[in-house]
Amino acid sequence: MTATVIDGKAYAARLRAELATHVARLKEETGQTPGLAVVLVGEDPASQVYVRSKERQTVEAGMESFAHRLPADVRQEDLLDLVRQLNGDPKVHGILVQFPLPNGLDQQQVIETIDVAKDVDGFHIENVGRVVAGLPALVPCTPLGCLMLLKDHLGDLTGKEAVVLGRSSIVGKPVSQLLLNQSCTVTTAHSRTANLPEVIGRADIVVAAVGRPEMVKAEWLKPGCTVIDVGINRIPAEDGKTRLVGDVAPEAWEVAGAMTPVPGGVGPMTIACLLANTVTAFCRQNGREAPAELSI
Ligand code: NDP
Repeated sequence: MTATVIDGKAYAARLRAELATHVARLKEETGQTPGLAVVLVGEDPASQVYVRSKERQTVEAGMESFAHRLPADVRQEDLLDLVRQLNGDPKVHGILVQFPLPNGLDQQQVIETIDVAKDVDGFHIENVGRVVAGLPALVPCTPLGCLMLLKDHLGDLTGKEAVVLGRSSIVGKPVSQLLLNQSCTVTTAHSRTANLPEVIGRADIVVAAVGRPEMVKAEWLKPGCTVIDVGINRIPAEDGKTRLVGDVAPEAWEVAGAMTPVPGGVGPMTIACLLANTVTAFCRQNGREAPAELSI
């Protein structure tokens, strides 16, 4: 058996096309353009690539992109001042500060300074709490992307056994919470979990977010299960360069019923969901109902 490909790249392209349509309509009806401000501190090459991608895709969807680049030695207070200024800017509907921040800067304080209504990363404690309470929230982008792919592939998730491998605040925990909100029976596994293969073996849905190349073995999986591989790991390739692999071993394609590839699975969903959150934030700030297909 070869697993069906859950094509995140294609889904993300469809989502971006839908977003562009919504943005055009919102501009016409409100006379305003949804705007996303992205703040990049320092020169981290990977962060620079992400930020450029975010800016390009924001503009392609018809939205306004506001880029702010600050030096790595910026003072915490100056960074917070910029965030406060963006909070008060009516042209900015979403604010994203690219993490990780350079050493010496307090990430949590930055998160808590962002206006909850503009927190398109969904990291503010109030958005975290709203997700837990099952209230409308801005949901973290990668977890939102995982859930969109699962619902698109499986439909109703009620009653499914789900195992989330990883308990970080940006992926594992919110994915577990969102699956619980969808009435799955959820186990969150981590580095201290006993009998991991056995735990994973009972799952209809496995979400792997560990950051360990090909750690989840094919023989751990229940045949026919659905696998969302969030991991992005760079390993040496035969040609002396590097290549990207996920957290799930390639042999899993012979056991799972459906699986996301790496690259081309969850990765492209993250930016598409950031744009979706910006449109959702714009709608809510304007007292409008956000389009249902931009959330879960
Ligand atoms: P973290 O390092 O913050 O968390 C990793 C989690 O995996 C921790 O909860 C840790 O457990 C657990 N873990 C580590 N080793 C093991 C092990 N041997 N057995 C079981 N559990 C283990 O990573 P993130 O959540 O930030 O990211 C996870 C992966 O997802 C990375 O590859 C990252 O690059 C990728 N990612 C991809 C995104 C995308 O857009 N596709 C976005 C964000 C992340 P413990 O808590 O006990 O230490």
